[in-house]
Amino acid sequence: MRPNLLNPLFAALTSLPGVGPRLEQLYRRLFDRDAPPRVVDLLFHLPTGAIDRRSRPKLRDVVPDTVVTVAVTVDRHRPPPPRRPRAPYQIYTSDETGDLILTFFNAHKDYLQKLLPVGELRYVSGTVALYDHMLQMVHPDRVVTEAELARLGLVEPVYPLTEGLSLNQVRKAADAALDRVPDLPEWQDPGWVARERFLPFAEALRVLHRPAEPADVAPEGLAWSRLAYDEFLAGQLALALVRAHLRRPAGRSTPGTGHLRKKLIEALPYSLTISQTHAVADIVADLAKPERMLRLLQGDVGSGKTVVALLAAAAVIEGGRQAALMAPTELLARQHFNTITPLAAAAGITVAILTGRERGRERSEVLEKLAFGDIHLLIGTHALFQEEVEFRDLALAVVDEQHRFGVHQRLGLAKKGEAVDVLVMTATPIPRTLVLTYFGDMDASELREKPAGRQPIDTRTVPLSRLQEVVDAVGRALAEGRRVYWVCPLVEVTENTDLAAAEERFAALKEHFGAMADLVHGRMKGADKDRAMERFAAGETRLLVATTVIEVGVDVPEATVMAVEHAERFGLAQLHQLRGRIGRGAGHSTCLLLYKAPLGETAKARLAIMRETEDGFRIAEEDLKLRGEGDVLGTRQSGMPGFRVARIEVHGKLIGAARDDAALVLTRDPKLTSPRGEALRHLLYLFERDEAIRLIRAG
Ligand code: ADP
Ligand code: MG
Repeated sequence: MRPNLLNPLFAALTSLPGVGPRLEQLYRRLFDRDAPPRVVDLLFHLPTGAIDRRSRPKLRDVVPDTVVTVAVTVDRHRPPPPRRPRAPYQIYTSDETGDLILTFFNAHKDYLQKLLPVGELRYVSGTVALYDHMLQMVHPDRVVTEAELARLGLVEPVYPLTEGLSLNQVRKAADAALDRVPDLPEWQDPGWVARERFLPFAEALRVLHRPAEPADVAPEGLAWSRLAYDEFLAGQLALALVRAHLRRPAGRSTPGTGHLRKKLIEALPYSLTISQTHAVADIVADLAKPERMLRLLQGDVGSGKTVVALLAAAAVIEGGRQAALMAPTELLARQHFNTITPLAAAAGITVAILTGRERGRERSEVLEKLAFGDIHLLIGTHALFQEEVEFRDLALAVVDEQHRFGVHQRLGLAKKGEAVDVLVMTATPIPRTLVLTYFGDMDASELREKPAGRQPIDTRTVPLSRLQEVVDAVGRALAEGRRVYWVCPLVEVTENTDLAAAEERFAALKEHFGAMADLVHGRMKGADKDRAMERFAAGETRLLVATTVIEVGVDVPEATVMAVEHAERFGLAQLHQLRGRIGRGAGHSTCLLLYKAPLGETAKARLAIMRETEDGFRIAEEDLKLRGEGDVLGTRQSGMPGFRVARIEVHGKLIGAARDDAALVLTRDPKLTSPRGEALRHLLYLFERDEAIRLIRAG
């Protein structure tokens, strides 16, 4: 149950004066909420800046086109002439140094006469401009008397808005909302608060919504940082609680004997890299522990994650249990199946595949064998979650290319067995801050180096006007027996137009290169897609025109040339993923990024980074800078919680501290019952991480 103290913050927004059903709808849109907005939503709707009205010059000293507040005497009104009612209503005012005309359109005479009575002194605030050598202010933002001036916040917050909602309405509502903020117990460590010079929570909100200085509303300022840290701590605490909960149904210890791994390693045509060996050792040690494993295996494209997954699977199979490997697409599942099966056979491991495509007899046979334990390793897509899929004894779930899956799916697979150990593999290098954000202190293994013998990829950018030269270069590469990917442009509009572009390019290239060329795209039937990939992998075709279906995971080490059309339309992470399809073997590789000139600033920066580096970690960091955090992980699709107030690029450096703090809190007070623990419960509710509290009770 939510602590009573917080009730006023979770009251409907309509409980604020001036917010009726019409505005409620607008706020709903503004906050992008499915449910009715609440007071707390408005309080966490922070200003983007502030208008500074503190400048109080005499009229003689006014700088045109700036915001000022001036004290003027009202001299006379000049309503529009009767025959031109649409002309502006003008009011002449002055101080002892000059004149100022206040201009109003569509104004009501009575209203203006009350607001600005002739002969009286008024303070008016707004932007002054110079028209016809006269100072004018069109629709002053504020007109107040001397008495009212004291109450006028001279620094006014500016909020993000939505059509139909005015700044003044939001300001007024936010101001009213502030009065609802109760005195809350401090949930932060007092020493930390002092060291960071953080304000108390309520005070921080006040500073942001009633700033005294424009700098008060800056995201890097002390008030905002305090709230960001609160949000991080709530997130880290929730993650730590979830994690403790996942671990509690004590995992089963699955110590392997090593005999299958030994056979696999002997069957490999290469030797493992140092970091592959380390990663396998980390995982095997986790599996042997009685706790549940939740480990992230991070490795740049081409770093060789698949074989690590296979060895991990072998370790549990040695113990007589089963493993599952889940890929994000059917294409990838099939590729994993194709590469893994012959290796597994060398060790006597039985592998099967299950995707949406296996139906009928074939499918029921797989399911039956799985339930009997005759299949040791099951590879598939999200079809693995389906209810009728039952393992005899699932010990390990490996999830490849994690960012494509949501948290629920990840946990779903883990439910298929008793205390299933989970290994999450990601090819998109996730910056450290984001790992912490989304996974907390999930253990991580990194494949830092690429397998030996890889050569750097020669990446060049070429304007589309030189398309013919690129076609010629591709022709030479094909003549040398090399294999080439030709990636077709991403067309924003629809998938259909993507396809049309690919088909058109394919037709044109086929004219040139005949049967050597082939096409693969997402709209093809699964089997046709596989066949196209297989022909290319086998070298029957050597020019593969493709849409971004090949973006993730496709592994044909013999492919050494890639042309990407309209590279400027792709994101940085995506380009990196695409390029990762080449440079996988010992051969020298070339990547040609074709762009349409002229390039915008961001596109230019992206392509420059691509030329400069192949380091996925660096590319991910740059991508974060260019795009903002949401997109990097594709969090929108996968439903991971975003942040309401924290901004990774500004406050990211605080996450580490929040993680350490959360860990410390839970070692000392695992049930959150100490005074600080009680205060922290408020924090969890406030940021709606309260699901985690239920877990404390469950455990
Ligand atoms: P990713 O990490 O992108 O999933 P893969 O597992 O697909 O990478 O491996 C990329 C390629 O590198 C594959 O062709 C694989 O056989 C090969 N590979 C993996 N490990 C090594 C190694 N230690 N030495 C040489 N080649 C390797
Ligand atoms: Mg892979």
